[in-house]
Amino acid sequence: MTSITDLTLDLAAVRRDFPILEREVHGKPLIYLDNAATSQTPVAVIDSLGDYYRRYNANIHRGLHTLADEATAAFEGVRATVQRHLNAFEPREIVFTRGTTEAINLVANSWGRANLRAGDEVVVSLMEHHSNIVPWQLLERELGIVIKVIPVDSRGVLDQQAYRELLGERTRLVCVNHVSNALGTINPIAEMARDAHAHGALILVDGAQAVPHQAVDVQALDADFYAFSGHKVYGPLGAGALYGKASILEAMPPWQGGGEMISHVSFERGTEFAAVPHRFEAGTPSVADVIAMGAALDWVNALGIERLSAWEQWLLDHATQKLEQIDGLTIIGTAPQKASVISFVVDGAHAQDIGLLIDQLGVAIRTGHHCAQPVLNHFGVEATCRASLAVYNTPEEVDAFAEALQRVLGMLR
Ligand code: PLP
Repeated sequence: MTSITDLTLDLAAVRRDFPILEREVHGKPLIYLDNAATSQTPVAVIDSLGDYYRRYNANIHRGLHTLADEATAAFEGVRATVQRHLNAFEPREIVFTRGTTEAINLVANSWGRANLRAGDEVVVSLMEHHSNIVPWQLLERELGIVIKVIPVDSRGVLDQQAYRELLGERTRLVCVNHVSNALGTINPIAEMARDAHAHGALILVDGAQAVPHQAVDVQALDADFYAFSGHKVYGPLGAGALYGKASILEAMPPWQGGGEMISHVSFERGTEFAAVPHRFEAGTPSVADVIAMGAALDWVNALGIERLSAWEQWLLDHATQKLEQIDGLTIIGTAPQKASVISFVVDGAHAQDIGLLIDQLGVAIRTGHHCAQPVLNHFGVEATCRASLAVYNTPEEVDAFAEALQRVLGMLR
């Protein structure tokens, strides 16, 4: 069993890995609390990008020369890294994408078009990011599928009873995030997958906000699809992945055509598609970004995901307690199981104004609808302020953020 001392974090050492944390904003030390939008990158990731372009930049899979071989080996090596990280059964279950959005669009356009007919039902939770709503709405318009929405209670918890009642004969797919970017709620994916499967439906999990904060085991969850973005887990922008069970991926048609995704092209005999996963990776991918995403996952694993999780949970509790002391502040999303996100509104102060003024004090938070308008509307708000934590954040930063917020509110109210 892991003891608490095993989970102790050398925070100063962690922070030394992130050069950007040393910068100032408006003459104040940067306090970066917008990690749910994108996290910062450690030196190992920055070096990986530089190393690729300095030493072995080449297009992959096609060349017989040394640089192409090295780039291909490094790129394909990351498939195994992601496989291990998610505990997928085999590397070919990992498809590289630009990120979560592209991964979900891949499922909608490939699996969705091949398997959904008018009247088929896709169950989507109310707390989804727009990227797990709009692709299904596009199919609703085009194919006449029906979207059923899982409601959320006043704490920001999915109503499991209502979910089970939504599942029926026509349910083909359940779409749900593992962790909500707007509320921080952690959803009970394994249970939800069991219920979906009992009705013969598949489950697609948006893991964009889970992979950065906790260990993910797609086999234990029994997810059919699982998507995440590298840039939210200390990696570079432009690379992410879709996990899909091999048997499901194998039965799916390509969604984009081009180089890399074929085994043979002929005008006379037609075109044969490549095997999984390359069938879903048309064109030249973001080779350097994928390799650097692998460096990011290596960095996380060297630190230890349990250590990272434990620290973030402690910090989340600390930040929640601090913010609860502020007069007129309401936290939106008070689920018992939460990760790393605190969304809040304050009486008499607009979120936008808070965001702008607090930036002047060096604090980066996000304001707006967080691409999750349906769930914000459910709480009767158009916008919230969102502070989201990463492993490099400190209690001192949280305290300074709470003080800065008090100062800003003093100006606004
Ligand atoms: N899903 C969730 C829960 C997110 O938080 C985000 C990004 O904020 C996305 C999907 C979309 O990720 P990306 O823009 O990297 O594709």
